[in-house]
Amino acid sequence: MSESTTTGMSLHTKILLGLVLGALSGVAVNVLARDANGKPLPELDWVLTNVSGPVGQIYLRMLLMTVVPLVFASLAVGVAKLGDFGNLGRIGARTMLYFVGSMAIAVAIGLTLVNVVQPGVGLPEATRTELMRTFGGEAEAKKETADKHKFGVETFVKIVPRNPIESMAQMPPDMLGVIFFALLVGVGITQLRAERGQLLLQVLEGVGDLMVFIIGLAMKLAPYGVFALIFTVTARFGFDILLQLGKYVFVVLLGLGLHMFGGLSLLVWSLSKLNPLVFFGKVRAVIITAFSTSSSSATLPTSIKISEEELGVPAPIAGFVLPLGATMNMNGTALFEGVTVVFLAQVFGVQLGLAEQAIVIMLSVLTAVGAAGVPGGSIPLLVMVLTAVDVPAGSIAIIIGVDRLLDMCRTTLNVVGDITCATYIARSEGYDLLQPKAALAAADPLPREAAAVSPEGTVAEERAAD
Ligand code: ASP
Repeated sequence: MSESTTTGMSLHTKILLGLVLGALSGVAVNVLARDANGKPLPELDWVLTNVSGPVGQIYLRMLLMTVVPLVFASLAVGVAKLGDFGNLGRIGARTMLYFVGSMAIAVAIGLTLVNVVQPGVGLPEATRTELMRTFGGEAEAKKETADKHKFGVETFVKIVPRNPIESMAQMPPDMLGVIFFALLVGVGITQLRAERGQLLLQVLEGVGDLMVFIIGLAMKLAPYGVFALIFTVTARFGFDILLQLGKYVFVVLLGLGLHMFGGLSLLVWSLSKLNPLVFFGKVRAVIITAFSTSSSSATLPTSIKISEEELGVPAPIAGFVLPLGATMNMNGTALFEGVTVVFLAQVFGVQLGLAEQAIVIMLSVLTAVGAAGVPGGSIPLLVMVLTAVDVPAGSIAIIIGVDRLLDMCRTTLNVVGDITCATYIARSEGYDLLQPKAALAAADPLPREAAAVSPEGTVAEERAAD
């Protein structure tokens, strides 16, 4: 990521420049490109629809197209390389505990703030009616998607895919299904005859490397893609709504900020034994990518690369924790859901006692696990939480207008949370972080150039004999 481009400027700097210029020019045209009645000029709409929108989408799609193969390959390889069931069980349990624990802390921060500030209590009746009218249609469409996501035993049964190819081919993909299948493939590889197992491992590693190559191409487009994405969002954004919902937006952003720079910094310092300032400096490319794409999935390739190359997380650990995290560990989303449910309850005068708020915490964590890592992926699941505590589902119309901005910020926290977990797991497995890559290769539990293998043994037995 730090390579220089033809202008002599590092790619990092160029992407950051794209972000800042995109935001500034987007806000400028949002304010200036209006007719006498204050309506956006048709020319602006033309540019957004035909120029900046498509450029942004091409960049996003270049990243997204690598996600399914990358998740599948890196998880399967990660699991196979982590070795026996003992290792896998220990690392898996720690990872899940970290995910659930950090998401619960996030929602608790959010709920505390929303109960203290009470942003929904004074929302004027006129604003409420106006927002319901403007975004009611969009809310209705989201509710329809939500109906397909009814929470129950089925939710857990569906984690086991009937057809993994179908899980991969959906849009957004059914990542829990892909993950389940990849985990089994990884475990299965360790049980194959060594020769076969190594062959499969090499093929899957090759697939991973191939995706890294494609991501490299996408990253060349990143400064322009990031500019286009941010420009399109800010130029279209309803800044008036931002003012109307100022208190709510403030509570969500404050919560995200507190968890990112307070909660996660504390975890990085105490569990990963890293200086939080050094940590945030190293992950800035991830922050920019997550912020501009609003997609944990699209940011996954960058997270893996930065975790391995900048933070020194060993490849099998990054390959195991980060694909899981991109789907299951969404600290920002959980916090956002908790705050939003209580906010909308306040707006509609629904009393939520301690028991109901405990349900909100639990459901926010559970639905954050199931939310797709794409822009707005959590909205259908948010509807489910609202319904569970008797807040009208259609009330999401109130927040839809500001959701993109909040999505950019919560996705950033989601992804940073995944990387903090990867550093914690690496540290707890005895690895030194921030080491050059060469030192890591030596410490790789199953080196890529596997030694001559006996056709009789399995990969796992061979490793046990090492
Ligand atoms: N956009 C979020 C992500 O990809 C999901 C969401 O909260 O809507 O992490």
